[in-house]
Amino acid sequence: MEMSSKLLEKAVAEISQLPGIGKRTALRLALHLLKQPEEHTRLLTESLQKMREDIRFCNSCHNISDTDVCLICANTSRDRTVICVVEDIRDVMAIENTSLFKGIYHVLGGKISPIDGVGPSQLNIVTLIDKVKAGGVKELIFALSSTMEGDTTNFYIYRQIKDYNIITSAIARGIAVGDELEFADEVTLGRSIIHRVPFENSIRSL
Ligand SMILES: [Zn+2]
Repeated sequence: MEMSSKLLEKAVAEISQLPGIGKRTALRLALHLLKQPEEHTRLLTESLQKMREDIRFCNSCHNISDTDVCLICANTSRDRTVICVVEDIRDVMAIENTSLFKGIYHVLGGKISPIDGVGPSQLNIVTLIDKVKAGGVKELIFALSSTMEGDTTNFYIYRQIKDYNIITSAIARGIAVGDELEFADEVTLGRSIIHRVPFENSIRSL
């Protein structure tokens, strides 16, 4: 398609880099912005720019945060003795949506996956083990997706903390094996946290 404006063409090319946005949708969005007051585009680009520049990771749980310690970790009404171990920041959001978990989180940043070249050292595992070793943790809840990589990661962590006097549990599998947490509906996910099982009972084939 030949466009009459190189500026529009460039904007469309950039927008269509976003996941799930094809050229057609990108064009529609760009034309939409052109019809709106200029202020809208300014606010949009400014907020994206600011988010990209200023957002950081929480020193404690590795969730995204505006400050050194995220709002969840800083919330004194949350139970700091119960830590829910998740793969990704999207999992924190999914569990927070259920409003049923009052502990804190630890975001690993992925799963151990030799095929993809992801080893334990590339994940936020050491800081989790250190938290357990430092004391003050009563329970770790493993809430990784129930895939081979998720199980391997859980077990890797479990082996290192099993001699410390804490409870280890895994979310109940109302969520089908292989399902990603973020796609589970709130009710199912909420139930799976409430009805969590001792970790030893959740080990399938390791
Ligand atoms: Zn945090």
